[in-house]
Amino acid sequence: MEKNIFVTRPLLPPLEEFIPYLENIWESQHLTNAGPYHQQLEKELAEYLGVEHLCLFSNGTLALLTAFQVLGITGEVITTPYSFVATAHSLLWNGLTPVFVDTDPETFNLDADKLEQAITPATTAILPVHCYGIPCNTRKIEELADAYGLKVIYDAAHAFGVKQNGVSVLRQGDLSILSFHATKVFNTIEGGAIICHDAKMKQRIDYLKNFGFVNETTVVAAGINGKMNELQAAYGLLQLQHIDKALDDRGRLYRHYNMLLADIPGISLMSIPEDVTWNYAYYPIMVNEDFALTRDELYELLKDNHIMARRYFYPLISSFFMYKFAESASKENLPVAHQLAEKVICLPLYPGLEESIQNKIAGLIKNAAATSPHSSPLIMAQ
Ligand SMILES: *Cc1c(COP(=O)(O)O)cnc(C)c1O
Repeated sequence: MEKNIFVTRPLLPPLEEFIPYLENIWESQHLTNAGPYHQQLEKELAEYLGVEHLCLFSNGTLALLTAFQVLGITGEVITTPYSFVATAHSLLWNGLTPVFVDTDPETFNLDADKLEQAITPATTAILPVHCYGIPCNTRKIEELADAYGLKVIYDAAHAFGVKQNGVSVLRQGDLSILSFHATKVFNTIEGGAIICHDAKMKQRIDYLKNFGFVNETTVVAAGINGKMNELQAAYGLLQLQHIDKALDDRGRLYRHYNMLLADIPGISLMSIPEDVTWNYAYYPIMVNEDFALTRDELYELLKDNHIMARRYFYPLISSFFMYKFAESASKENLPVAHQLAEKVICLPLYPGLEESIQNKIAGLIKNAAATSPHSSPLIMAQ
């Protein structure tokens, strides 16, 4: 039987290179709690990413939860419905009220031009997402945040290594959150981080992720357990040695798709702004009305051919039952996001993906396009 191809495959460093790290951990018996590999990974990642301070976490969701705690956010937080559910869940877990704003059709990100009208006296923060690693309109978002005295926390789970005008996008806002889940560009199996800009903030985050302990007998806050362990930190250090090659691979595969899929009627491709150094995190395509199949028909066709494409992000977060009753979750308030959720499909993209599979995927899409909507058996059967 043919093997299923998924949208992502974890970047796994060579096993034999991991053994010496394990031997060191066994010898030191330092398994967790800010051990030597944890400290080294925080330092190396901050350097690699070009940021001042980085606090490792056991996953990105705990990093998000802690970000709202450390800033003392209350009331309403403006966010995007077009993301992974953890974005909005981090607000509910903090007793905060999500307020959804529509997305920009070009960048897939929260539409900064619709942000101001969503601000109320209860608004205290903005939680935008750099969706697929494409930077938000950070200039406009931060202008408004300054004008209204709001905090900005970026969900940068997709934005590992992304730069704008040569500067890390993680330097924007008050805090940024990364995820190092196995499916992400850089992974520590499970893991994540908060990026912050000063040492005092880093200290407070470090207390919060360790139950609020400052020393053996002093607890300064009702903290949580968000610590990354030494095995994962070591895995991260090893992975970091392979990340540049992985990014090169992703770039090559991205360009190959672009070449294969350009000029297919009814399919539009994402465009990367010129000032952005991207990480090729995802390969979304838009299946428009003039394509021979609907997005879901294309999804099924690919699946029948063992290509497990994903409808990221469908359903919208605002459609899930714990969000859909909010006034801002109405379809009328989020027309562009609804369009995206209906049209976008992400194709497989990961280091090691064979070009022959990309060719097969493009062939299936091209063949589908060649059947005009009017002669399509799917339509005629209706
Ligand atoms: C992956 C992801 C998260 C959650 O990160 P975990 O490390 O899996 O907890 C949050 N937000 C977005 C946008 C994500 O893609």
